[in-house]
Amino acid sequence: MTSAHSGAALVHDPDCLFCKIVQRKIPSRTVYEDDEIYAFHDIHPWAPVHFLLIPKTHIPSMAQVGAEQGELLGRIMALVPKLALQEGCNPYPQGGFRIVANTGSEGGQEVAHLHFHVMGGPRPWLRG
Ligand code: 5GP
Ligand code: ZN
Repeated sequence: MTSAHSGAALVHDPDCLFCKIVQRKIPSRTVYEDDEIYAFHDIHPWAPVHFLLIPKTHIPSMAQVGAEQGELLGRIMALVPKLALQEGCNPYPQGGFRIVANTGSEGGQEVAHLHFHVMGGPRPWLRG
């Protein structure tokens, strides 16, 4: 499969949980999808709204990101406000949302496929 945006072929790691989710080998609740990006609800939400935005191609974490991923990351970030409201976050400034990208073991990353947590909704939250 190729991307209309970058022209780059999608790379999947057969041992990666989120690559399996992208390929529908493991089910997930879809929030958004295009040729490069997938968003789905976190299986253990910390907040009333909690979904993950990921590139479909396998990038292990933010530690591997450079200028060549700038357009892809820009597209992911530009989706956040629209999807946050769509999923039930309240409008800024009383509402809002949090974006988190845990990176590496000391950064608290458990799944080694780049992902952005988007959390929001009325307080209190389970965590954070
Ligand atoms: P990390 O700790 O790597 O930043 O976040 C990984 C997130 O993936 C966690 O919040 C966890 O709940 C979520 N997660 C782990 N396995 C699955 C799964 O099979 N399906 C979904 N939808 N989320 C998952
Ligand atoms: Zn992956």
